[in-house]
Amino acid sequence: MLIRNAEIEGRLSGLRVRDGRIEAIAPGLRAEPGERVIDGGGGALVPGLHDHHIHLFALAASLRSVDCGPPLDAEGMALRIRSAVASVPGGWIRGVGYHEAVAGDIDRGFLDACAGDVPVRVQHRSGRLWILNSAALERLPSGGLDDNPLERRGGALTGRLYDGDDWLAAHLRSERPDLSGVGALLARRGVTGVTDTGHANDAATFAALRDARRRGELTQDLLVFGRQSLDAVVGEAGIRPGAVKFHLHDGDLPDLEVFRGDIARAHDSGRSIAVHCVTVPDLVVTLTCLAEAGARAGDRIEHASLVPPDLIGWMAELGVTVVTQPHFIAERGDSYRADLEAEDVPWLYRAGSLIEAGIPVAGGSDAPYGRPDPWASMQAAVDRRTGEGVVLGDDERLSPEAALGLYTGAADLPGGPSRRLAVGGPADVALLDRPWARAREALGDVDVRLTLKAGDPVWAGPSLDRQLVEPTRTDV
Ligand SMILES: [Zn+2]
Repeated sequence: MLIRNAEIEGRLSGLRVRDGRIEAIAPGLRAEPGERVIDGGGGALVPGLHDHHIHLFALAASLRSVDCGPPLDAEGMALRIRSAVASVPGGWIRGVGYHEAVAGDIDRGFLDACAGDVPVRVQHRSGRLWILNSAALERLPSGGLDDNPLERRGGALTGRLYDGDDWLAAHLRSERPDLSGVGALLARRGVTGVTDTGHANDAATFAALRDARRRGELTQDLLVFGRQSLDAVVGEAGIRPGAVKFHLHDGDLPDLEVFRGDIARAHDSGRSIAVHCVTVPDLVVTLTCLAEAGARAGDRIEHASLVPPDLIGWMAELGVTVVTQPHFIAERGDSYRADLEAEDVPWLYRAGSLIEAGIPVAGGSDAPYGRPDPWASMQAAVDRRTGEGVVLGDDERLSPEAALGLYTGAADLPGGPSRRLAVGGPADVALLDRPWARAREALGDVDVRLTLKAGDPVWAGPSLDRQLVEPTRTDV
């Protein structure tokens, strides 16, 4: 395949792909007989993007779920659940994105009123809480008081389940959703690789991801974080195990000695660590334990939602990488402004000041908790505007080039040097609908016209579909 008339690192050029690799990059490349030719239309050709923090199965499930988040109110949410009940007879209803702004601290009673005897479970936007109705509770083992994590008040189940994902998953084993929808939506945005950062990922999750990839549901390369038990897993082309992921429970911090031991164990097994840090105490505890256990190249702070200025030097010294979500500023910035102390607001999802201090910073969608659109995320990194248009952390803005760099570092070197399109390298590329000079003015508006993974078109926009099915016979 030959892509002609595309902009590669600032100049118009052609790019030839053969056997999954880039065979040539040069202006004026001529098509060979029978070769497919794509007219790049002068659009920029960039390396396929890597989403450095995503939850694939949760994203797949959310695509089939009822959105229960703001700006809905209680009535609107009830209405949505009722219509889902009507349209999915017999099945479970799964709600996502719930926040107290919708209907307060809801329990089973609220959902019973919406759904009657159809089982419903609604996930809080934080990802930490599920609310289940009575019909759902009946399908789960409520058993003795001690052998399940369901919340009780005065001996009765409230329907709330905090930090019970593993338990819930174990009892709802039936469903690991198909990943084709996720694979397609990522390809459509130019994403050719992802890091699944689920802290509970184990050998069974790994096998399910590997099988989904073998079946072609996903074309992206996968780096899979998770439990220490992933040590035992052997990767194959396109999927391999990565760091040990730790999920700290804010307000319920770990025993320091145990945490330090866990970090050392991960390092001893040749793996780095990735720690979910959304509060200042999360971050302090992590840096403390990391300093004591000894940091290893590749150790990551996920989210780094709040970074007080006096911790930046320490992070740089330890050599940790930050994998952040600039789009949370756009998606949730206004509720942060309402919920946080004013002096904490400038510490939110920092990027510019971290990079300036020498800390590698990369981007990840955290989908389904954030939108899986790297271009919207880059836009948010550049303008840091909330939904209501307020700029949060002006000093943290990135240039459009640095914003693109959040998604073009290598899978195991996030925030490191951008991968480049190079002869001999993998043909993982995204063709944009405009030259970079225009893309950088409005990254959120960029459309990806074509995505190649190892030379295969995994996404082609409407204007390119025809060119792909009808190979050009002769050069003109
Ligand atoms: Zn996450």
